[in-house]
Amino acid sequence: MASMAAPVPFLTADQIQRRVAEIAEAVAADHRAPDSEPLWLVGALKGAIFFLTDLSRALSAVSTRPVALDFVRTSSYGAGTKSSGEVRFLQDVEHPLAGADVLLVEDIVDSGYTARALLDHFAAKGVRSVRLAALLSKPDRREIEVPVDYLGFEIPDKFVVGYGMDHAERYRHLPDVRIVEEG
Ligand code: 5GP
Repeated sequence: MASMAAPVPFLTADQIQRRVAEIAEAVAADHRAPDSEPLWLVGALKGAIFFLTDLSRALSAVSTRPVALDFVRTSSYGAGTKSSGEVRFLQDVEHPLAGADVLLVEDIVDSGYTARALLDHFAAKGVRSVRLAALLSKPDRREIEVPVDYLGFEIPDKFVVGYGMDHAERYRHLPDVRIVEEG
């Protein structure tokens, strides 16, 4: 197996948690009514799982509105060099979300194709509202415009791992975000 240099620390667990708490405040402020209907947090598997779980717990500290969770899973064709922009749905949400307030939770917006496809997907379900929260964004890599309503951090064009994000399924469990140096 090819060896790889250890990923380099980039965002500490503490920095991430502080930013997640701030995002929760903003999400709560934008989603106050109707208080009896849940706000649906829809996580993009697998990379967004840590952000989704921490954001949902941070929301419970600042909002009394019920929160419900669901998940989607996508993969994009042409991983690596060719960015065709074609996004394939591997798993859809379990619940019909017509009429619901949805917060789409992504780990990282890169070209923007995944986020765009997901936003269109939920709009087509007849949701009441859909907004996008992303922990990270690489603006230099953007190929199509996509509105990121709640953003953790803008980062340079580097490959990152940790806090749910992987490199060949490794590093997801790390509580911080690290940069994989290209060798
Ligand atoms: P997009 O459709 O915006 O090009 O790609 C978004 C998806 O690509 C993210 O949800 C993530 O799965 C993957 N991705 C993009 N950049 C990185 C990165 O630096 N590290 C990891 N682990 N995944 C990335």
